[in-house]
Amino acid sequence: MNITLTTPLAQLPTVSKTLAKKLRGLGLITAQDLIFHFPTRYEDYRRSVALNHVKPNEPVTVRGRLQLLANRRSFHQRRMLTEAVLADNAGLIKIVWFNQPYIAKTLKVGDRLAVAGRATLDRFGLQFINPIFEKDTGAEITINRLLPVYPTTAGVSQKHLRYLLKLTRPLFNTLADWLPEKILTANNLPDLATAMHRAHFPTDEKQLRNASERFQFEELFILQLRNELSRVKRTQTRAPAIGFKEAAIKKIVAGLPFQLTASQRRSAWEILQNLTLPQPMNRLLSGDVGSGKTVVAALAMYNTALNGYQAALMAPTEILAQQHWQSLQKTLGGNVPIGLLTNSKQSLPGEIDPEISTAEARRRLLEKIKKGELPLVVGTHALLSEKVKFKKLGLVVVDEQHRFGVAQRQAIKEKGRQTHFLSMTATPIPRSLALTIFGDLDLSTIDELPPQRKTIITRLVETFNRARAYQFLRQQIKYGRQVFVVCPLIEEAAPEENGGAFKIQSEKKSVLTEYQKLQEQIFPDLAVSFLHGKMPTEDKDKVMEDFRANRLNILVSTSVVEVGVDIPNASVMMIEGADRFGLAQLHQFRGRVGRAEHQSYCLLFTDSTSSKAKERLNFFEKENNGFKLAEKDLTMRGPGDVFGTEQSGLAELRLAKLDNPDLIRRSREAARQIAPQLAHFPLITEQIKKRVTNYHWE
Ligand code: ADP
Ligand code: MG
Repeated sequence: MNITLTTPLAQLPTVSKTLAKKLRGLGLITAQDLIFHFPTRYEDYRRSVALNHVKPNEPVTVRGRLQLLANRRSFHQRRMLTEAVLADNAGLIKIVWFNQPYIAKTLKVGDRLAVAGRATLDRFGLQFINPIFEKDTGAEITINRLLPVYPTTAGVSQKHLRYLLKLTRPLFNTLADWLPEKILTANNLPDLATAMHRAHFPTDEKQLRNASERFQFEELFILQLRNELSRVKRTQTRAPAIGFKEAAIKKIVAGLPFQLTASQRRSAWEILQNLTLPQPMNRLLSGDVGSGKTVVAALAMYNTALNGYQAALMAPTEILAQQHWQSLQKTLGGNVPIGLLTNSKQSLPGEIDPEISTAEARRRLLEKIKKGELPLVVGTHALLSEKVKFKKLGLVVVDEQHRFGVAQRQAIKEKGRQTHFLSMTATPIPRSLALTIFGDLDLSTIDELPPQRKTIITRLVETFNRARAYQFLRQQIKYGRQVFVVCPLIEEAAPEENGGAFKIQSEKKSVLTEYQKLQEQIFPDLAVSFLHGKMPTEDKDKVMEDFRANRLNILVSTSVVEVGVDIPNASVMMIEGADRFGLAQLHQFRGRVGRAEHQSYCLLFTDSTSSKAKERLNFFEKENNGFKLAEKDLTMRGPGDVFGTEQSGLAELRLAKLDNPDLIRRSREAARQIAPQLAHFPLITEQIKKRVTNYHWE
């Protein structure tokens, strides 16, 4: 049969209706789809060993003669087992295949066999479970190579995928390369067909690296090309030019209870300069926890108001919105009215009669926003509602943007189409990464903490020292300080009616249990309270207000305090089950203390005995730099966990290694070069369209 790239897989030999359907589930419909189905990893079966040299968990190929072969049903489960014994001159080994009864029909005792896999060692001894195999006819065997392992689903075997790829292999040479030859040559990359052969049928690591570099380059190239196009488009869009009111800004800065750090000044200046341009600003302000981003945003917002435009500040949680609202009022002290709008509340201090109903208060607030009488508004995503209409919106600031959902970020973008846009994040983003992923974005970085800050002392506390740790908390509280206790999710059995056996995760229970223990047994004389996501908003507010006013000594909470909460008087952050959190997240928790002049402490507890968990926590004890911690997370857990895959567009970089700055740089250069002449490259335009994803911060 004559196969082409568009031939449906259903028409290939050995593809039954059922299989075709399963392949469709994997997104594989045509031969071309299959060809672009890349391996997730490779098993290196190039090493052949004699049977007496097989060691547990090492990928090897062995050869021998089948001594025994039988099907039986497993004892407990109703699974079909095929058991075999393979022998060579030096020894023998057991093989088990599950649910592949046909194997016993294709093979027979006495056959020569090549088997590749990783042996496992359990109470039945050393054995191969579900290894791949091939009849050894004396001719060259094909399984002892760098064998690709594909993403798949139940009922579609690796073997079958490999077979189908072998069938379609001649088509690789018919793939049209959409990357221009001069880019390939300049970057020492293989053309598409060659890269494809090397990805599916590599002969050595060098070939594999070279192929994978080509595909990584592709992704980075398209991503950066799109950034470049969006940048060009933005420079053609207009936004109000916001003049820099230097004298008024200086007055506010002089009135602050502290001196701005040099990087706060520089960032503020970059932002204020950027706002004077008649094109929309698109800027990310990044700075470690506690570096003081809020005050920088406040200056930009105030400057916007002074120009007769409105500015909105959006935060991911109600607690944070409220806190920003209070802090803005303090900073801008009576110079300008500031409104607060979240789903559950609305405020406009001093102007709203306490007698009126909340519905009426809300109506009046919205009215003022619409008439342009309220220059500054702080809120949550409630600000995105249709009902909120700004008269002259000049600047949108989004705090911790990665905390918002995809749809919300889209809405933020819509709202801010013709306006200046500033997002803030404490997620440490290396500059090269920022330039790649968030390419059409200017970056301001606050890379220092206010000078009077003392380094937070971090300790992983051994279980037998728990009582001493509690003693220590008591002492801090005696000095007037306050304490956060963070608990992880706990697992508990689901109620009987929901299937009983399996586990559900509960944050509420974890917090309540810890709270009861502390309040009733350890600190009955102190004021302890708790906070979790399932509480009604009023209760949450009440607790936060009490804590802020130092009416509470200890606050037990879930990770809800992770983002942005600012309680300068708190000096101890105690984290239970610390191994369950990522390092970047632990760093966020730790950033809740040490925000003022008091020496502060972060105490970690863990029940984990895993050496890897210990290693991570020991690293955290010694490292106070958010960037370094994120890097460690990156190497130990991968980018998805660190930046949140779907949020940051990293999902798009399926293959691209973000730790290859050279490749990032080269792909950016190529993108810059192609962008102005894109009209001449219809194949590239087609690729851009094909690879649409919703990546943010554009
Ligand atoms: P983040 O960057 O984590 O959002 P915040 O803006 O919440 O940090 O600031 C953390 C704390 O530091 C706040 O209490 C703020 O008032 C204070 N702060 C900000 N800048 C300075 C400074 N230059 N010197 C001293 N304290 C500062
Ligand atoms: Mg903040």
